[in-house]
Amino acid sequence: MGQLDGKIALVTGASSGIGLAAARRLAAEGAYVFLTGRRAEALDAAVAGIGPNATGIRADVADPAGLDRVFAAIGERGRLDILFANAGGGEFAALPDITWQHYADTFNTNVAGTLFTVQKALPLLTRGSSVILTSSNIDTKGVASFSVYAASKAALRSFTRSWAAELAGRGIRVNSIAPGPIATPGLSGLAPDPEAAEQLLKGLASGVPMDRLGRPEEIAETVLFLASDASSYMTGAEIYVDGGASQV
Ligand code: NAP
Repeated sequence: MGQLDGKIALVTGASSGIGLAAARRLAAEGAYVFLTGRRAEALDAAVAGIGPNATGIRADVADPAGLDRVFAAIGERGRLDILFANAGGGEFAALPDITWQHYADTFNTNVAGTLFTVQKALPLLTRGSSVILTSSNIDTKGVASFSVYAASKAALRSFTRSWAAELAGRGIRVNSIAPGPIATPGLSGLAPDPEAAEQLLKGLASGVPMDRLGRPEEIAETVLFLASDASSYMTGAEIYVDGGASQV
């Protein structure tokens, strides 16, 4: 018996990194998982790796029509029990270099994309369902040259509290996960080339009390906890999974 037998889950941004690890973990516990991402090839590979209990839908979370396609497909199953709104990303930009485009790209994906993913899921979310957002441990910190990204994740921390209040009456829990530096293609991709990426990852690991980067699978375990009844009395919370980086 899996912890999530019979449950239906959506993981956005599941073609890579944290979302992919979470989709695998939820499926391993018996959930039927819908995965989304923009790159068809990566998404197909992710779905093939999980097997028959997975469906991939190519969609950009910042595109309302894409989100409509996602929820039309899930709607054919009649309901949604677990929503891991995880798609997101960012780029470094020092304050003088921030452009309207940089701001719009970051906030459209991380903030509007998450907001409208959750909004469009509402008609399908059942009593007892769990909504999980991916914020970041920098949502309560200051990081030079990463201010727009940090602000977008702070917005998700705020959404978590407000939506938890708004949806408690429907029996829907809303929590967020604040990862520290996790070894994913997205993290390495912040650097312009492989050499710079190695330096970046080394520097980030050295700032973590546990002296290493996290693994996507370690975030996936937290997703499973928040998705399952093991966290039945939790809502509005944020769990820091960051090797102590923001805590000690
Ligand atoms: P990743 O390996 O780059 O994965 C990001 C995923 O999101 C990919 O599947 C990507 O797929 C998808 N995605 C990005 N923009 C999208 C969009 N507009 N519409 C749909 N899908 C989109 O990075 P990751 O590190 O796993 O990041 C996952 C989440 O964790 C992000 O929200 C990130 O901000 C957060 N996070 C990461 C870290 C870290 O250190 N890794 C720390 C804190 C928070 P496509 O490219 O195919 O669209």
